[in-house]
Amino acid sequence: MDLAIETKCIYGNKKDWKKDPTGAISFPIYQTATYAHPEVGKSTGFDYSRLQNPTREHLEKVVAALESGTDALAFSSGMAAITALMEIFKPGDHLITEADLYGGSIRLFDNISKKNGIDFSHINCSTEDVESYVKENTKAIYIETPTNPMMNVVDIRKIADIAKKHNLLLIVDNTFLSPYFQNPLTLGADVVIHSGTKFLGGHNDTLAGFVVTNKEEISEKLRFIIKTVGSGLAPFDSWLLLRGIKTLSIRMERAQENALALVEYLLNEPKVKKVYYPGIKGTKGYEICKKQARGFGAMLTFEVESKALAQHILKFTKLIPFAESLGGVETLLTYPCTQTHADVPEEVRIANGITDSVLRMSVGIENKEDLIADLKYAIDSYDGYKAQYI
Ligand SMILES: *Cc1c(COP(=O)(O)O)cnc(C)c1O
Repeated sequence: MDLAIETKCIYGNKKDWKKDPTGAISFPIYQTATYAHPEVGKSTGFDYSRLQNPTREHLEKVVAALESGTDALAFSSGMAAITALMEIFKPGDHLITEADLYGGSIRLFDNISKKNGIDFSHINCSTEDVESYVKENTKAIYIETPTNPMMNVVDIRKIADIAKKHNLLLIVDNTFLSPYFQNPLTLGADVVIHSGTKFLGGHNDTLAGFVVTNKEEISEKLRFIIKTVGSGLAPFDSWLLLRGIKTLSIRMERAQENALALVEYLLNEPKVKKVYYPGIKGTKGYEICKKQARGFGAMLTFEVESKALAQHILKFTKLIPFAESLGGVETLLTYPCTQTHADVPEEVRIANGITDSVLRMSVGIENKEDLIADLKYAIDSYDGYKAQYI
């Protein structure tokens, strides 16, 4: 029996149910570094928690089930997951990467992976001819969709076809839509990345990261890497993730409903120049997103009429905090040009549309009228304060 995604959030796949011998409904936190062996040559299946821990293992099964993968590995952060994944490549390899990625991923690729001999072409995967960038030494295509923060939607199946044709891996960072709305492995991707810190954890209280795959060979390499580099998720944090994931479905539904209401307000707000959200009918992203995902998510970006107004909003919302990160129950406003994308070279940032008038919003599960009122207050109060900026 294939379970629906809401049920998988709570139990994982059916074969994982009732695994704890005590019958505990909440999976226990095995707060142990090491495990006693019954005798020489025998193991309980657990030897040392850098390799594996029962709480982390259970979490990995749940996340693998959510993404329809055969294996998932839980890391201490999203960046730890991506760093471990980069270890499957070797000096001389080339990767095609989406240009509008999470800023931390660009920082990793350009500063650490490059130093390790890996070469990159950062391109716009939703507008450019991706296939024309494939070289002799190209090994993978790495994308996010919708992209961060400009919400460009990349056609996963189309890129997967190019990857298959040239024997490349397709890696998709699926953090923004979460497995509740989108499952790239079912669309032809080979590897899925998550920052578990975001929607999976959902409460802005812990860091985590995942690599999910349905390829035995990649899974074996990653198991070797996680045990060697030691960046696996700790037992307590694994439990927090399990707890967060149980409510993923209702959080995603409510957050999306709120996002749609905020988009509606922003589209009618004269001081807002542009709203980027894949759920806006008539946009190119809408059709692709509708085809490959079950929803449009709770991330939106908007450009206001000036830098001064953008900074005013960040100072004058009373409810919505100005903070990095996303995917939690709390709505957050982010200023990409000085926060998530501060390390991206200015010309690249501007070319990607991330000007100093652009704000990104991660919509939470509060009451939507309260959110609109808060944002409206910040925007409306600008005229009165304008003088002080001039
Ligand atoms: C936050 C984020 C990451 C990095 O994850 P951390 O848990 O912060 O290390 C990677 N990709 C995307 C899309 C993110 O939003």
